[in-house]
Amino acid sequence: ARGVVDAVARALSRADAVRRLEVRANADTPEDAARARRFGARGVGLCRTEHMFLGERRKLVEQMILAGTDAERDRALADLLPLQRRDFTGILEAMDGLPVTIRLLDPPLHEFLPDHTDLAVRIAAAEARGEEPDAHDVDLLSAVNRMHEENPMLGLRGVRLGLVVPGLVAMQVRAIGEAVAGRLLAGGAPRAEIMVPLVGDVRELRLVREEVRRVLADVSRAAGVTVDCPVGTMIELPRAALTAGRIAEEAEFFSFGTNDLTQTTWGFSRDDVEAEFFSAYLDKGVFPVSPFETLDRDGVGRLVSLAVAEGRATRPDLTIGVCGEHGGDPDSVHFFHTAGLDYVSCSPFRVPVARLEAGRAALEGTEGSDSR
Ligand code: PEP
Ligand code: MG
Repeated sequence: ARGVVDAVARALSRADAVRRLEVRANADTPEDAARARRFGARGVGLCRTEHMFLGERRKLVEQMILAGTDAERDRALADLLPLQRRDFTGILEAMDGLPVTIRLLDPPLHEFLPDHTDLAVRIAAAEARGEEPDAHDVDLLSAVNRMHEENPMLGLRGVRLGLVVPGLVAMQVRAIGEAVAGRLLAGGAPRAEIMVPLVGDVRELRLVREEVRRVLADVSRAAGVTVDCPVGTMIELPRAALTAGRIAEEAEFFSFGTNDLTQTTWGFSRDDVEAEFFSAYLDKGVFPVSPFETLDRDGVGRLVSLAVAEGRATRPDLTIGVCGEHGGDPDSVHFFHTAGLDYVSCSPFRVPVARLEAGRAALEGTEGSDSR
């Protein structure tokens, strides 16, 4: 076993010496970030903040989104702020000195809001017993009904939620800014980057950036230390890829969200890849492998290449990565190398494989055959 371990270590260090793609990891907790770092990740490419709003904090999210009054919403946001600050501090500490890309909240709302049917059943049961239904349940049901969407994945998600819920972006940016300030004052080297999800138009990004600038200036003043974070965007809608040249005016980095980009380019729901029809369809041979696993070069890949070219035409120093599942898929890693990305970001356990493949892709490139 010792020999195998040594051989792997040698292969990895050889790959690291030649590869041009940097490898980061997707991590939402300090533990995952630390593990990713041990596997050789050079930063966090995607910290999904919605995972920080589950469990105990669900109630606060409910209050924030379904708030009957501004005061109620502001209270929920004020309660969330210190919790978020603690989340970010831990991850920045685990990745000290390396970039940590924190993505603003991107929940499909149906995963957060209380279930409509549960509420309706509870209310009906109370009425059947001849009792007055719980007033909170009644309010909640009417709020949930108001927010109902037939297609939550195509609805109030990502930047749209940030623009619609007053104070949400400001709360998250303040938590990031205060975590950075705290780490700076403690002698650390925090490198937080703020990433905006589901952008389809440069104006969405412009609105968020104005808010980021305002809040970070405020945090800097209060903390007595300059807090500055690069702001960038996910490219995960065809429209974002097609207008990448304009979006780059407001973005210091791009990160391809190939999960959503595959879903929206093909029109296949990413949540239904386990459905019977999908595997039956795979058997038809329309696509040899699932486009959700291996990047579809003819469709999604062309959007990626287009966005890279147009983004860099606007801003030659644009940093570009990928943080969808494809970031850890060996075949896709070769594509991203050839497409000229700066990094791939994948789950911590896939980091070593991504490093090896990035090395192989670089070697193939120098040997004159970079397609597989
Ligand atoms: C993506 O869409 O590829 C992505 C990384 O974001 P999420 O999976 O969280 O939607
Ligand atoms: Mg996405």
